[in-house]
Amino acid sequence: MLDSYSINLPRKFIGRNCTLMALAIDNISSVAEELKEKTPKEILRYALTEFPDLYISFSGAEDVVLIDLATKVNKGPVNVFTLDTGRLHPETYQFIDQVRKHYGLQLKIMTPESDELQSFVAEKGLFSFYEDGHKECCTVRKTNPLRKALNGLDCWVTGQRRDQSPSTRSEVAVVEQDKVFGTDAQPLVKFNPLANWSSQQVWEYIRMFDVPFNKLHEKGFISIGCEPCTKAVLPGQHEREGRWWWEEATIKECGLHAGNIK
Ligand code: SF4
Repeated sequence: MLDSYSINLPRKFIGRNCTLMALAIDNISSVAEELKEKTPKEILRYALTEFPDLYISFSGAEDVVLIDLATKVNKGPVNVFTLDTGRLHPETYQFIDQVRKHYGLQLKIMTPESDELQSFVAEKGLFSFYEDGHKECCTVRKTNPLRKALNGLDCWVTGQRRDQSPSTRSEVAVVEQDKVFGTDAQPLVKFNPLANWSSQQVWEYIRMFDVPFNKLHEKGFISIGCEPCTKAVLPGQHEREGRWWWEEATIKECGLHAGNIK
């Protein structure tokens, strides 16, 4: 059964959410095994039942599918955050606001820390990623704001799919312990309810349920990130080829899911 565990909690976890501790410490792989054949809706229902305060991370088409499913499953409001790097396309800002209004979200928008960003830009300029790689800029504009968003949370939900990136996401589990942003003292659980879905299934859902999507998808963009680091792809090209195209194909993660890089 998914909803009952019998464990002896270490003293440091006494008083905290017992289900979380059970998941995070001892049982997460067995829960992943139990959930691996479930539908995204069933996985989300489970996640929302066990972790009512979870947050959905929103940026792309997959994430809106999750928000749509969560609003159907959940009786109360759904917690959602997004990362505003300051370098998004105008279409993406319009899309974010469209989703906020469509679902009546109290959307939490995370921005880079101003002193850190000012120092980085003063030293490196606005396009350093073309010269020395995307990692430093992504750390300032994405990873650090994400770390702040996740601080104190027990659980977050992402739209990662295995077929998004053969080199980094082929082993994404439907639920896992987040060892990048969680710690032993503050374990963090990450659900990926769409791990088993293909891009085609995501878009079938979007069309079937009239889910809002970024207008850039009508211009040949598939995987959409920041404006200077994203381009449209040609038919037959893999979606990740439109991201950081000047870099080695095997390291195309921005730090949000750095645990995918072995
Ligand atoms: S995707 Fe590009 S602009 Fe955006 S944070 Fe990363 S390196 Fe910076």
